[in-house]
Amino acid sequence: MKVFDLHCDALLRLHDHRNISFTDDPELHVNMERLMKGNVALQVFAIYVDPEIPSDMKFQTALEQIDLFHTEVIEKHPQMKKIVHWNDIHQLEEGEIGAVLSLEGADAFGNDLTKLRTFYQLGVKSIGLTWNNANLCADGIGEPRGAGLTELGFEVVRMNNDNKVWTDVSHLSVKSFWDVMDKATYPIASHSNSKTICPHRRNLDDEQAKAIFQKNGFIGMVFSPPFINETDSATFDDLIKHIDYFCSIGGVNHIALGSDFDGVSRLVTGLEHSGKYQTLIEELLKRFKEDEVRGFAYKNALHRLPV
Ligand SMILES: [Zn+2]
Repeated sequence: MKVFDLHCDALLRLHDHRNISFTDDPELHVNMERLMKGNVALQVFAIYVDPEIPSDMKFQTALEQIDLFHTEVIEKHPQMKKIVHWNDIHQLEEGEIGAVLSLEGADAFGNDLTKLRTFYQLGVKSIGLTWNNANLCADGIGEPRGAGLTELGFEVVRMNNDNKVWTDVSHLSVKSFWDVMDKATYPIASHSNSKTICPHRRNLDDEQAKAIFQKNGFIGMVFSPPFINETDSATFDDLIKHIDYFCSIGGVNHIALGSDFDGVSRLVTGLEHSGKYQTLIEELLKRFKEDEVRGFAYKNALHRLPV
């Protein structure tokens, strides 16, 4: 069964370790060989700029990751196709893998809307206003102040709407979350689980999850044990509790996958890299109807592309 993975940090790994190859380096949870083995048909690649990087270097760092996306991921692998426009997804042929760029945190463009437009022009299709820290657009979940969006943050949401770009709520403070839900046409949570099942600060409570379902968004399940059961190891059963729970509050058509491969060191046992995706599918097929599993794996996100 095909898979649509909404979040990985392979570009950060490629950026930090310049000598590794996207083709088959086992250092990468997501590489070409593993994507093919896992039958991943669409992979979102996050651009992540560490908050420690000085402000005047952040845009440059993001551009370097986009450059690695083009030179190492796309140009060296003819079966990898960059998704420039959402419609490109429908042109993918059998065996081809669509690669989508996302931006994890507005720090990369600061308050410079020319830089933001440049990201759109380079094909960024999803923007989370923050990582865990605060920035000029909004507070992230790690900012003790817990404020919401600034006027600039609201402007970015409007621009995302106009450019048919997802606004990703996964790292936002609670107040920022509700501000985005109020204004975003295409809200998603690319990598978060249920706070009712596991009280990690990055997870979503029931009201937040239901608001995403109501706005026709979706939530990508994250495979990192601290987000699943607050420990350093988790089983498929532990992960599937989150899916079960979101189904029980009306989310069966709004559940997706957002691994966080290459962004975390520990993962669900048996799901250590993207080459193992079909094992997850088999586990899901034991517990859910086939069309439901196809929804989680691929279709729930695919049917909610901005149009
Ligand atoms: Zn993240």
